[in-house]
Amino acid sequence: MTASSVTAGTPATRPGSHHAGQLDISGDFPILDRLVNGQPLAYLDNAATTQKPRQVLEAVRGYYEGFNSNVHRAAHAMADEATAAFEGAREKVRAFVGAADSREIIFTRGTTEAINLVAHCMTESIGPGDEILITEMEHHSNIVPWQMLCRRTGAELVACRVTHAGEIDLEDFYAKLGPRTRLLAVAHVSNALGTVNPVGDLIRAARGFGARVLIDGPQAVLHIPVDVRQLGCDFYAFSGHKMFGPTGIGALYGRAELLDALPPWQGGGEMIERVTIERTEYNQLPYKFEAGTPNIAGAVGLGAAIDYLGSLPRAELLAREEALVETAVNRLKQLPGVKIVGEPAQRLSVVSFLVETGHPHDFGTLLDQQGIAVRTGHHCAMPLMDRLGIPGTIRASFSLYNSPSDVRRLIAGVEKAMDFI
Ligand SMILES: *Cc1c(COP(=O)(O)O)cnc(C)c1O
Repeated sequence: MTASSVTAGTPATRPGSHHAGQLDISGDFPILDRLVNGQPLAYLDNAATTQKPRQVLEAVRGYYEGFNSNVHRAAHAMADEATAAFEGAREKVRAFVGAADSREIIFTRGTTEAINLVAHCMTESIGPGDEILITEMEHHSNIVPWQMLCRRTGAELVACRVTHAGEIDLEDFYAKLGPRTRLLAVAHVSNALGTVNPVGDLIRAARGFGARVLIDGPQAVLHIPVDVRQLGCDFYAFSGHKMFGPTGIGALYGRAELLDALPPWQGGGEMIERVTIERTEYNQLPYKFEAGTPNIAGAVGLGAAIDYLGSLPRAELLAREEALVETAVNRLKQLPGVKIVGEPAQRLSVVSFLVETGHPHDFGTLLDQQGIAVRTGHHCAMPLMDRLGIPGTIRASFSLYNSPSDVRRLIAGVEKAMDFI
């Protein structure tokens, strides 16, 4: 399948931004035009961060040039405009994840901060004898905060095994889930292997034992339409920068009654209702969890990224991306000495592989010299690498703007690197 052979179901809503009727959105992303090491850029490091469309860049610039002011407090027109834009972005995030109420959307720096928020706020509600259940494929952001919580409270961190195919070992999951499990924290999609986890089943099972469930979602939200109410999770965390938005902004969805019952995390301005030197009455949701001046420009940019996604024929673009990933997997498999790491039944965006003749870092460097950006190493998932018995992988990760030419260049690039090594 090529870009030109497929026509989009819905026309582009912004005149001039897309080639009419085509599923090529790369023209919206100025950075994709640059050269790297004298070569056109083939950007295949989208699981680390995605590039930003002009629509997001313009929204951030528009905020700073047009109505930069602090939110919620001041008594002037620009502050009202900034507050409206910031709260408007919260409403966009609410609709984007299908939450019932925008009070359930807490702006954070990203996924990492969102998970740390939940882990910190649970400190008083768990103790010795309680268990936090994760899996061996989690990102360090979904491991370390729970280790810290367990150290503070005497609770135990339990990790469900991952199979050699790179999937959650469901037998082990059901053996380790039980009445002691107070929280299940699991990735929607693995950033290291691309495995799509059966989160619906996992959530139902965990809630059957009265456990809370947090879904680590940054690899999913750009690709899979997420509906937190349909999923039935208690918390869902994601980052703006992995879905065409700015860095330094992300969100935590949490069910209102749970967030209401949790104590606040950071103290400061905005999260208070009334302060005396002796004590503080906390503000209501969501502000209780948003101490200090927030990343207003980031929220505006995230809102613009959500609008941009909404303007795209997302299902068709995803099908196109899936075809690219499948082609990449199949072509890589045909290269002598290449081993695909993880063969999950359901894969999204990511192909991790090894070449038996050389170290991943050397391949990364040789690909970079050809303008092909991939990631090499453990991908913030060292326990998963340990489990698979490897130090790391070469990871090519795709997004909605990648093209068949990026796949061709990856394959040719790996072949060329093999000649060198
Ligand atoms: C990127 C990522 C994180 C961490 O996100 P930050 O934006 O760095 O906070 C956590 N989990 C997964 C699965 C990720 O892909």
